[in-house]
Amino acid sequence: MSQSLITMSYLAATILFILSLSGLSHQETARRGNYYGMIGMAIAIIATTLTLNGAVNAYVVLILALLIGGSIGAMAALKVEMTQMPELVAIMHSLVGMAAVLVGYANFMDPGAALSGAEKTIHELEIYIGILIGAVTFSGSVIAFGKLSGKINGKPLLIPLRHWLNLGLLIFVIGLGQVFLEQTESGGGLYPLLIMTFIALIFGVHMVMAIGGADMPVVVSMLNSYSGWAAAATGFMLSNDLLIVTGALVGSSGAILSYIMCRAMNRNFLSVIAGGFGTGTGEAAAVEGDVYPIDAEETAQLLLAAKNIMIIPGYGMAVAQAQHTVNDITKLLREKGKKVRFGIHPVAGRMPGHMNVLLAEAKVPYDIVYEMDEINEDFPNVDVTIVIGANDIVNPSALDDPNSPIAGMPVLECWKGGTTVALKRSMASGYAGVGNPLFVLENTRMLFGDANDTMQAVLKALQG
Ligand code: NDP
Repeated sequence: MSQSLITMSYLAATILFILSLSGLSHQETARRGNYYGMIGMAIAIIATTLTLNGAVNAYVVLILALLIGGSIGAMAALKVEMTQMPELVAIMHSLVGMAAVLVGYANFMDPGAALSGAEKTIHELEIYIGILIGAVTFSGSVIAFGKLSGKINGKPLLIPLRHWLNLGLLIFVIGLGQVFLEQTESGGGLYPLLIMTFIALIFGVHMVMAIGGADMPVVVSMLNSYSGWAAAATGFMLSNDLLIVTGALVGSSGAILSYIMCRAMNRNFLSVIAGGFGTGTGEAAAVEGDVYPIDAEETAQLLLAAKNIMIIPGYGMAVAQAQHTVNDITKLLREKGKKVRFGIHPVAGRMPGHMNVLLAEAKVPYDIVYEMDEINEDFPNVDVTIVIGANDIVNPSALDDPNSPIAGMPVLECWKGGTTVALKRSMASGYAGVGNPLFVLENTRMLFGDANDTMQAVLKALQG
């Protein structure tokens, strides 16, 4: 493949990646965005493998690796449930981190071209930083995977003086970098590199272990950003412009997403990175009061009497796969002249945009799906709110209990409306592990059961 053709292909892939990102920012264009990304990636892989000067010649190994990696990826994607998606994403990020570490070590042991002077130092710095980011991303993502899949306790692990420990580790790693550069002058450097990798792995574990339940979304998007920077660092090590650009795109878009999520959760970005949020300062207040159960028939009557209805979906809707039944109910109510809207919290479910994906899958019209900020003020005008398998995102204690682990997080203030019907299987807490006073308020009714079963029963009652 000629150099100009490769450059053109890289350019085309870059443009497709940018179009992909912009496509993914809207529900209507998300599918198209995915296709752009897939075509861009195919072009990128083909162009890279057909690089000039026989830089790539082990085609059999490459095809084998593609087949094995591709099949594992395809199998994982086919097998994974929608509710396990965040775990899959977290473990994929860890692979990017590991790739950066491995490429770094391979580059260190066999630099390829003989470099000298400033070029050599820059290359070694690339290796050092690449391995550093890669190792943090790897171990942090493995812990995030453990927490999201429930294999590791979601509660924050707070080591005393943890901020000082982090600062100490950072200073040590910078000093070690200096030693590494000095030792590579005389052909050494492996030991400082190994020690730094070990510290970076510990740092990744510590960083994610210190994050409390409700702040996990920010960590997931932050690790997404790190994986981008790890890929960019790999691009520098391999002198591959496309990998640098792609890594930078993922890194910066992940950073922007983390910032947006921090703002949505009323968190300080740096404080979340440093760990320790989601902890509160004391004991969260216990939830006491009477629970008022309701059945499907009564819920249907409430809905038929209401004019203005809000539906708040949460993680439980994803578990129950109730979105299609919810859409059927929505259609029926709208045919009866009711105003039906959906209120979406930015961290509802277990990944950014989780609820939007489910509602889009069930073909709920986009124009009745609102972000939290757009509808929160309107709750006093709402007659009935149906909360489907949501808990933390409708917890009033986030606003009035400073000791709550979710204190300060904006929530959907449905209790300001007429009646709230909360669908869940028990009185169990949500992801953040805190009690929810909403469920014992006088204008709240609990509809117990699997959300899809209860929604089906409500649909039947509405039809009959
Ligand atoms: P929560 O986890 O707070 O609550 C979900 C509720 O759904 C539970 O109380 C559960 O109660 C109920 N539920 C589970 N299965 C079913 C079912 N089959 N039928 C009916 N109800 C069911 O979810 P929210 O969406 O309210 O909040 C999201 C939480 O997850 C936040 O704390 C957020 O920070 C965190 N998070 C979000 C991420 C993101 O990117 N969006 C990533 C990681 C964490 P019961 O068991 O009684 O049925």
